[in-house]
Amino acid sequence: MQFTRRERDCIEKVADAGSINLTKLSSALGIRAPTAYSLVKRLVRKQILEKDKNNLIILTSLGRKYAGDMAFRHRVLETLFAKNGVPLGEACRECRKIDFILSEETVIDIFNKLKKPSRCPHGKPIATSI
Ligand SMILES: [Zn+2]
Repeated sequence: MQFTRRERDCIEKVADAGSINLTKLSSALGIRAPTAYSLVKRLVRKQILEKDKNNLIILTSLGRKYAGDMAFRHRVLETLFAKNGVPLGEACRECRKIDFILSEETVIDIFNKLKKPSRCPHGKPIATSI
């Protein structure tokens, strides 16, 4: 499934929060509430987000899978960049511009070429969810 940068950011925020209301989500994303509302609605339609019994926004099981996939993509690319001389902070920022666009096959090719690293340069685990 392809996501826009804003969808990626939204999925990450919900993943970090566990559950979140629309007001907090929109301010975390730096967008207006109506924009956040239509973003959430779109991700609900894609079966990535849902509302819990308290009407808070949470990830579906599919959403959790994609959140893991996004972390995987980011960490693999960050490892590639950092290993090739890009300073870590820069590697992290630059990877965020492209990690959601690249095909899964490309990311897996890079992961294999890097000999399946278990941790990113920040020390976070690289889990092979895809
Ligand atoms: Zn990073």
